[in-house]
Amino acid sequence: MRQPCLVCGRVPSDPHHLTFTQPRALGYRVSDEFTVPVCRIHHRELHRSGDEAAWWQKLIRFQSRSSSGSTRDSMAINSPQA
Ligand SMILES: [Zn+2]
Ligand SMILES: [Zn+2]
Repeated sequence: MRQPCLVCGRVPSDPHHLTFTQPRALGYRVSDEFTVPVCRIHHRELHRSGDEAAWWQKLIRFQSRSSSGSTRDSMAINSPQA
């Protein structure tokens, strides 16, 4: 696959067939097949995890926290006078 890894953006990636049915949680648009591009490293990690749904959940939580969570927290702390 030419698409970058959904996790780290690495290329090349392999198509991985999702074995659970929550592709929308990833913000990834799927057509008729639930496949996502993942690099070798994450592909292997995904298969070794055993619980694929939990693996994605962990990833989503980590990404959302690093993107906006910390900023919102610090703002709340810095505005006690309002
Ligand atoms: Zn990767
Ligand atoms: Zn796979």
